[in-house]
Parts: sequence; structure tokens; C-alpha cells
Amino acid sequence: MTALACYACDPARTRGRRFIQAPAPTRTEYQRDRDRIVHSTAFRRLVYKTQVFLNHEGDLFRTRLTHSLEVAQLGRSIARSLGLNEDLVETIALAHDLGHTPFGHAGQDALNDCMVNHGGFEHNLQSLRVVDHLEERYPEFDGLNLSFETREGILKHCSATHARQLEALEPGGVALRFLQHTQPSLEAQLCNLADEIAYNAHDIDDGVRSGLITLAQLQDVPLFDEHRCQTLHDYPLLQEPVQGRRLLYESIRRMLSRQVYDVIAATQAALDLARPADVDEVRRLPSLVQFGVAMRDSSRTLKAFLLQQLYRHPQVMQTTGQARRVVLDLFAAYQCAPQEMPESHQRRVSQGLAGGAGATDAAALAARVVADYIAGMTDRFAAREHQRLTGLQLLS
Ligand code: MG
Repeated sequence: MTALACYACDPARTRGRRFIQAPAPTRTEYQRDRDRIVHSTAFRRLVYKTQVFLNHEGDLFRTRLTHSLEVAQLGRSIARSLGLNEDLVETIALAHDLGHTPFGHAGQDALNDCMVNHGGFEHNLQSLRVVDHLEERYPEFDGLNLSFETREGILKHCSATHARQLEALEPGGVALRFLQHTQPSLEAQLCNLADEIAYNAHDIDDGVRSGLITLAQLQDVPLFDEHRCQTLHDYPLLQEPVQGRRLLYESIRRMLSRQVYDVIAATQAALDLARPADVDEVRRLPSLVQFGVAMRDSSRTLKAFLLQQLYRHPQVMQTTGQARRVVLDLFAAYQCAPQEMPESHQRRVSQGLAGGAGATDAAALAARVVADYIAGMTDRFAAREHQRLTGLQLLS
């Protein structure tokens, strides 16, 4: 690892863990966090959770797991150039989607609707619940007991209501910044942008692979088309169908590189101007990890294209409609019959152990336990449970 800049997070000066533990002999605190995440149950489940395309639609589409690995790769690469802490960036990237429900955003929206009278459901908050409460691996505490800086990065967004609840449980903790409107570390800011760069690029790839969008349509997206034209200029033969997807891959590869270099240059310029002395000063400044102005616009155009042409494609909408139905039905079924959940979840209901903020009465607590159970499911497990409980066969 290259030398850390003064504004990077230094594991030797971490704000620590909620339960004090002796340092590991061979690993820094952030390396230790990353290892805990990789060994967690929630991390293994990411392999069968949808990004955009449902898991059964094809083996080569991105899942939450491969998406998280791509975010980690992009994040590390940018962090290295800026003197930021690569290990922390990787750690946050691998954990950032742990709280996602099955079936992508359709699942999350459905679960949020189910929880409307019980504090709602936010996937960022759920990622924090997973690492703070829901993983059961250690004799001394619930959760993974991760360091402050990792948890700060995981809690990317948080409503003011939830922030107040979290702050009451952990004064001066990871939710405080949403009440004070300050920024997280540069490593956390970087994961946010790397997430966006990763999904914009891989959704083009998956979209074209699925046949739902075409290279011809992508001519309306200057950020992509510019690199497609340059690629064809350098390799005219890539037009031939016999060359398969090389034109697509090379165009995306160039587009990704351009975005990475743009973030490095724009962020370095912002850092040179602001000259933060340490991470505490970073937190008080406006967000510094950024695209340049032109790239920000180009990225926005690409996002708008994907929203219109891919995420709202009738075929995607049809499966998301079914996914929504599965989540709504499951929620209703477990609320009526908690005995259909595994014993550990039934026990959490009967003993009043929802953990964390949000559950203020018995009904809210029972609903939170059901939401936790459903949020933890993989796509295929949710579809199978739905079939078992309703007799209906959707999504398989
Ligand atoms: Mg993500």
C-alpha cells in the first residue's frame, strides 16, 4: 500500500468498536473488518440477490456479490491514486449492499410499504442492522462489532427520523452526521461514487446481454458512444459480428477508465484547494470526492438513459411486479403465522428482541423481525418460500 495522505483514515487512529477488543496481531482494524464481512452469512447471500436482472434470468448477469466486488475494485484503484485507505474502501464496498432485500429495488420498495406504520424499511439502514445486530457469530456480542469508520461508510443515507433514533442509542455515533449535515470520510464518499460508476457500466453490459437495450440505442448516450466510436476507429474489424461482444467490452472498459481518471483529477484538485489537515476536517467540509463538471453531466445523461430504457423496460417491470407480489405475500403470511419462520426469529418476536432503533411496541417489533427475515432472503429462497406458503409459482 502506498503512503496514506494526512486526510485518509488511519486504522491506528480509529474511533474504535462498540465492544472493546484487543488489536489483531497481524491485521489493521480495517483489514479485520473486511475479513469479518467476507466470512459473514449476509455476504454469502449476495451471490443470489438481484442487482437488476433476477437471479434465474441468466448466470452471467451481475448479482449483488459481483457488483460489490466491482465497486471494491474501482474504489481501491481510485483510493491508491489519492493516498486514501484502500483497505477501508474495500471493506465499505464489500459491505455496502448487505442490507438489500431479494429482488433489488422492487423488493425494497415492497418491504418499505409493508413497514409503513412501523418505521419503514431503508436498505442502507438495514446494512447497518446486519453488521450491528443480525449477524450471530460471536459469543460476546450480536453483529460483527465493526469499527466506526466502516459503519460510517455503510450508513450512506439515513432519514432524520431514523438518525434521531440511532443517535439516542449511540450518542455521537454514525447517525450524528445526518443531523449535523456533515460528510463522512473520503473513503466513504469514494465508495458512493464507485458504486455509481460500477452500476452505470455493468448495467450497460447486462442490458445489452439481455437484449433489452441495443448498441444503436446507446448512440444517444455520448459518454458511451464517444468510446464506441474511438474503439471502432482503432479496431474497425470489431464491427463484424464474428467479433462477438469485444466492441461492447472495449467501449465500456474505456468509459470506465475515463471516469476513474476524471474522479482522481477532480478530487485531487478539490483536495488541493481545501487542504484538509485530517479526516475530522474532511467531515466538516463539503463532499470532496467528485466528478469534474462535464463528467457529472455525462454521467447524469447515462443514468437517465438506463432508467428510461432498462429499469423501466416493460419486461423488467413485469418481473419487478411479480417480485413485489412475492414480498407483500410473504410479509402478510409471516405476520399471520410467525411459526412459519425459523425458531430463532420466532424467539426474537416472543422475547422482544428486535435490536436497534425503530421497534417501539410489540406490533412494530414483530413486524421488524418479519422484515429482517425477508430482507435476509436470497431471490430463490424467497420465491420458494412464496410457493410453499401460497401454492403459487411466480418467478421460477
Ligand atoms: Mg451498490
